[in-house]
This record gives sequence, structure tokens and C-alpha cells, in this order.
Amino acid sequence: MAEAPAWARSLVLSVCAEADAPLPRLAWRHRDRPTSSGVTRQSAGLISVVAGRDPVDQRLTLLHELAHWLGPAPTRRSRTRHHGAAFYATAFELYRRHSVPDAAALAGEGARYPSSLTHARRLGVPGAEVAWRERRSALTERARRRPPMRVLVPEHAVRLVRDGRWTRCAVCGIRVVGPNLRRLRRRPGRHVLMGIA
Ligand SMILES: [Zn+2]
Ligand SMILES: [Zn+2]
Repeated sequence: MAEAPAWARSLVLSVCAEADAPLPRLAWRHRDRPTSSGVTRQSAGLISVVAGRDPVDQRLTLLHELAHWLGPAPTRRSRTRHHGAAFYATAFELYRRHSVPDAAALAGEGARYPSSLTHARRLGVPGAEVAWRERRSALTERARRRPPMRVLVPEHAVRLVRDGRWTRCAVCGIRVVGPNLRRLRRRPGRHVLMGIA
């Protein structure tokens, strides 16, 4: 494990000092890839960063984790609130205050968590309105280009047959696994095979 670079350690110091928060331990590794990733374990007092090549993205990633560090401890049920409005209010303020350009913050967050753009827009982050609109029209365009789903095999009663280590429906040939398989073994069911023709 590499030692965290001096800029990262002093960034942690100043963010925690400003917020009057305890200091986490900082674990730092390098990977030969463009972007970074991070994990914060409040209960363990630890922020881990896997640093990629892009220095701005390293900074963004560390500040993102610091925003988690300053926020309430996540609970099992709060997966979405984990990256919700309150989180992004803290995060985008940290990016601003600690010199991550708005465009880099929007690009980095938007690529990882598309919903961040909704929050950034609400927070009035410069450029967020445009980024949000561009993302929305990209999604609309992608949906428009996607070939329509068609019924490939009309609705039928599922007939389970063994196929080596798998189980398939003998009518449409689709592989049945997991909870679906357990349910269909207990009682008969029907399904439709949809797909792109
Ligand atoms: Zn996060
Ligand atoms: Zn079938």
C-alpha cells in the first residue's frame, strides 16, 4: 500500500478542520487507469482511494469520499439517500471550495451517478443545467434508436426441462434460473418471450 500523497493528506486535514470532524485514516493505492474510485467506512474510521492517472479526478474522488465522511453513517436501507440531495449539497460545496472545476465535478459525478446532475442543477452548480439537459436528450435519443421489443414466443404455460446443468422452458427454450425456477417448480406458470426480432 502506497502512502497517500502530501496534497491528499493536507486536503483531508483542511476539510476535517473546517468541518470540525475527526480525522479518518487514508489508504491510498495506484491503478493504471484514468479514473479513481473510493470507499469510506465510517465505522472503521477509514477512507480508501484507488487513484487513477487523472489528478483532477483523484481530487474529486477524495473529496467525494470526504463528503461521505462528514455525512451521517449509511444504513442498510439508505442506498439511494447515500447519494441524495444532502450528500450532494456537501459534495459540490467541497468541490468548489477545494478547487475542483465545476465542469470536472459535473463530468466525474455525472458519469458515476447520473442522478447527481439533478442535484447539481437544483443546487445551482454552474453548467449543471446544460449537463442535465444533454444527458436527458442523450437518453431520449438512445431510447428512440433502440429497436422495439417484440413478442418472439406468445404467452404459454412454462414446461421445465433439464438441459445439462440448466433448466429450460421446453416451449420457448429460455433458461430458467434462481427465484423464477424455484417458483415454477412449486406451481405452474406462464410467460412470454420478448426480444429484439
Ligand atoms: Zn459515494
Ligand atoms: Zn417458455
